[in-house]
Amino acid sequence: MNIVLITDTNGDTVDVNCYCSDTCAQTDPLYEGWFGCVEAAYDTACRACGAAIIAPPARWATAPRYASRRDERKHNEELRF
Ligand SMILES: [Zn+2]
Repeated sequence: MNIVLITDTNGDTVDVNCYCSDTCAQTDPLYEGWFGCVEAAYDTACRACGAAIIAPPARWATAPRYASRRDERKHNEELRF
């Protein structure tokens, strides 16, 4: 999938918008260019066209899997020091 970063006033990434393609990502007012192909950590839908973005099977993943973006954020917050 393609992502567009959402940053706070300090420039820190606080969330991402998920898109099925760079074409859909370019509809985001926050788009700042091709970010690269990103593997989905959980199933979601393209913010622009609604296409399903399916995460790869867990056995393929090298990173933790999350049931939701909320769980992913919680885990990432726990990793901060
Ligand atoms: Zn799309």
